[in-house]
Amino acid sequence: MFFVLGTKMKHKPVEGGVVVPGGCPHCRHDLHEEMICEYFSAFFMPIFPISKPKTILSCNNCGFMRLPYEGEIPGM
Ligand SMILES: [Zn+2]
Repeated sequence: MFFVLGTKMKHKPVEGGVVVPGGCPHCRHDLHEEMICEYFSAFFMPIFPISKPKTILSCNNCGFMRLPYEGEIPGM
């Protein structure tokens, strides 16, 4: 029997989340608020979360990601 185990990052866009216009330092596209969570995975399928969900800002164009600055996302 052969198992493929590992971890996988899951990204989930936040609906109505914060957008930083032109906030990407690489390509000047907008940054969008996303939730990321690390999952334990088997056969490349996420099984259960192994970290708390984190809020990040990510660029849909080049994949750049960063943590939000203090006060950048209301309620954080
Ligand atoms: Zn970018």
